[in-house]
Amino acid sequence: MILTAALVVLAIVLEPLPPYAPPSSAEIEMLKQRLAPIQHLSFAAGYEYCGYLGRRGNGAPGFTKILRGHHNGCTPKVPGEGFGLIASLHTHGAYDPSIPAEFPTALDMRSDRREGVVGYVATPGGRLWYIDSKAMLAVEICGPGCLPQDPDFHAGDDGEIAERLSYAQLLALDAWE
Ligand SMILES: [Zn+2]
Repeated sequence: MILTAALVVLAIVLEPLPPYAPPSSAEIEMLKQRLAPIQHLSFAAGYEYCGYLGRRGNGAPGFTKILRGHHNGCTPKVPGEGFGLIASLHTHGAYDPSIPAEFPTALDMRSDRREGVVGYVATPGGRLWYIDSKAMLAVEICGPGCLPQDPDFHAGDDGEIAERLSYAQLLALDAWE
């Protein structure tokens, strides 16, 4: 069974990845600054936190209120009129050796696609992921420690992690849970 699963995963890994639209460096910088304090909150509380990046009526980018979610999920509140959604953002809580959290889930990608936004995910290891929900591709913007890292984080628990993951690959990774 394990061999079969490995062959299926290998086939998915070899599948060509779709092209995607990278975010601007200004947007990435905004996200890093906003996520840094939320990372510390996530580690202390052990919960996911989430919100949206959007554009106000005057065109200025801004964030919605960041909400506390659960141990394994967080649903941001959709703001009212006059705030155009650009991206969702959420953390993956505190480090837990029993939960693979160093990459987005397939559900993260589906939610972004349904809402017509791109997504950003911060992991306990301090990785920042970008989800292009049109291309259905997750891209690691920067690796462990580029955002604040949970002091308890232990590298390598989730195995080798590719820097780009398709939806099919995320589904395969979910299946390992
Ligand atoms: Zn997630």
